[in-house]
Amino acid sequence: MELIFFGYPGSGKGTQAAILAKRYAIPQISTGDIFRNAVKNETPMGLKAKKYLDSGELVPDDIVVALVAERLQEEDAANGFILDGFPRTLEQARALDEMLQKRHRAIDAVIELSVDKDVIVRRITSRRVCRDCQHVYNLLTEPPPESGRCLKCGGEIIQRKDDSEETIMRRMEVYDKQTRPLREYFEAQAKLIQIDGSSSIEQVRDEIERRLQLFIEGNG
Ligand code: AMP
Repeated sequence: MELIFFGYPGSGKGTQAAILAKRYAIPQISTGDIFRNAVKNETPMGLKAKKYLDSGELVPDDIVVALVAERLQEEDAANGFILDGFPRTLEQARALDEMLQKRHRAIDAVIELSVDKDVIVRRITSRRVCRDCQHVYNLLTEPPPESGRCLKCGGEIIQRKDDSEETIMRRMEVYDKQTRPLREYFEAQAKLIQIDGSSSIEQVRDEIERRLQLFIEGNG
């Protein structure tokens, strides 16, 4: 199974991708997580990507495409994967299709999570993450422990620099301009499954499962 999650930052892509990845025993590939790790570890790629991440702009296509091409070669992706945060531009989407074609594979479906902007701002500004394992907490729905240490790995829980209100407004603008046009591309391929992402994690999870099943059976 090869899937893409598509939607605003804060629409729940990461959360739902993690649930599906576990269910299908395939990796969740989050380009944002890979970049954040690279920045934290000060790798050459991280040093190049930092300014884009901090300002909410997109990392240039050639860097992102090379990164994903490499990641998809890894053994754990042989039976499928879930992309979370990639592709974000038309060029990335085309490059991905080419990459997969060479391996006689193709994306099965694109799950779009639709959430209004005001809900996104509320969700993102209350989001906290573990600096080490990237587990996501939320002051409203899953508050981090008072110790400030991650329940999963003991890492420090922080607010992402790009989760400030100012940067989230910019990230949504970038999405509207550069990423939303991909909708038509996926629609033309008859792969788009649009889901209301504003309800609870469990409700969205169940709706994804239902719609994906219908889609796979050919009634989506
Ligand atoms: P995310 O966690 O998916 O919101 O990604 C955080 C940041 O990483 C984005 O604001 C971009 O700066 C960068 N990034 C992640 N994925 C991509 C991508 N596919 N193309 C360009 N930049 C990306």
